[in-house]
Amino acid sequence: MGRIYLDNAATTPVFNQILQSLYTWGKEYFGNPSSIHSDGQKSRLLLEECRREIASVLNCDEEEIIFTSCATESNNTIIKGLAEKYPEKDEIIVSPIEHKSVLNPVKYLARKGYKVRFLPVDKNGTVDLEMLEKWISPKILLVSVIHGNNETGVLQDIDKVSKICREKECIFFSDTVQSFLKEDIPEIDFLSVSGHKIHAPKGIGFLKRNKNIEIEPLIHGGGQEFGLRSGTENIIYIKALKEAIRIWIENKDRYISHLKELKRYFVELIHKELPGEEVVSENVKTLPHIVSVIFSNIDAQTMIMALNSRGISVSSGSACSSGTPTPSHVLLAYGYSSEEALRAVRFSFSIFNTKEEIKKTVETIKNIKKDFNLFFF
Ligand code: PLP
Repeated sequence: MGRIYLDNAATTPVFNQILQSLYTWGKEYFGNPSSIHSDGQKSRLLLEECRREIASVLNCDEEEIIFTSCATESNNTIIKGLAEKYPEKDEIIVSPIEHKSVLNPVKYLARKGYKVRFLPVDKNGTVDLEMLEKWISPKILLVSVIHGNNETGVLQDIDKVSKICREKECIFFSDTVQSFLKEDIPEIDFLSVSGHKIHAPKGIGFLKRNKNIEIEPLIHGGGQEFGLRSGTENIIYIKALKEAIRIWIENKDRYISHLKELKRYFVELIHKELPGEEVVSENVKTLPHIVSVIFSNIDAQTMIMALNSRGISVSSGSACSSGTPTPSHVLLAYGYSSEEALRAVRFSFSIFNTKEEIKKTVETIKNIKKDFNLFFF
């Protein structure tokens, strides 16, 4: 068995058939979609075909799909673009368990004087929607609630959030990066998707907007993407993204049941082989491919490095850019202590993982814990 890759919430391997086609697409569709000659128009036709197919997946109009370079760009475009367009609205309601690419643009607006209200979250990771109903008002610029959390997999009831927002004529945005294709997504005003989380290359994503709500573009220039994202479209990667979505949808039932089975098996083995370890948010609705475990007596960085040296790639929600890990803001919001949050390791699966890999991973964790306990306790 080669290396085992269980960090698919961070990024996924590109589908082979896409990798193999990139050269051909690059040769064929090199024209600039804005050029009026045949080479350009050939790319334009492909661009619009991709937009149409993606729009049909989300049941929205073609002009509501705006291609971007990644979800971070989509999230920034939506949040800052709305703020610029509606300066009279100066309050934002957001969950504290958003990805940093949502939280940091919101914090940027807070520094500019916006009032930010963070929705409470319970120990299972569920956002308090009663508080949302209490706080929502005409002064609210935007409500932002992530669909499936990238660290714990916990799903929020965004259908309900959407209804609450619609009733009060408030704009709703959800980061659907981890849930797109894996869960049903109700009709919402704005959402974001990233290609590299769904077996397309890095450097491509899109946002879905409500075409009746204007936003100011983040990038000004030649007016591509309905004036909302200037810059020559990355046509080959847009094609790759569309193909990744097509492949997934064609195999959806098989892929989803495989992911569910991998996760079920992993959790079952953790409980059987390592009783006492805490599986985060086990009793609420979660994504089929993400699970976090809080290990006793061993910090996440040590576990991740030990697994890495034994050929297994996993990660955690704690950031370690300064050399001293900071605990995950998501687990802190759930009510875990810093010390507990620093022991949380995330395992995230893809359709390419196997049950044998899961078995090997749990055996390896068991051995690491045995060695660690012998050495330190
Ligand atoms: N939102 C969520 C929930 C994510 O998991 C990620 C990536 O980790 C992002 C946004 C950012 O995606 P991208 O790498 O495309 O900017």
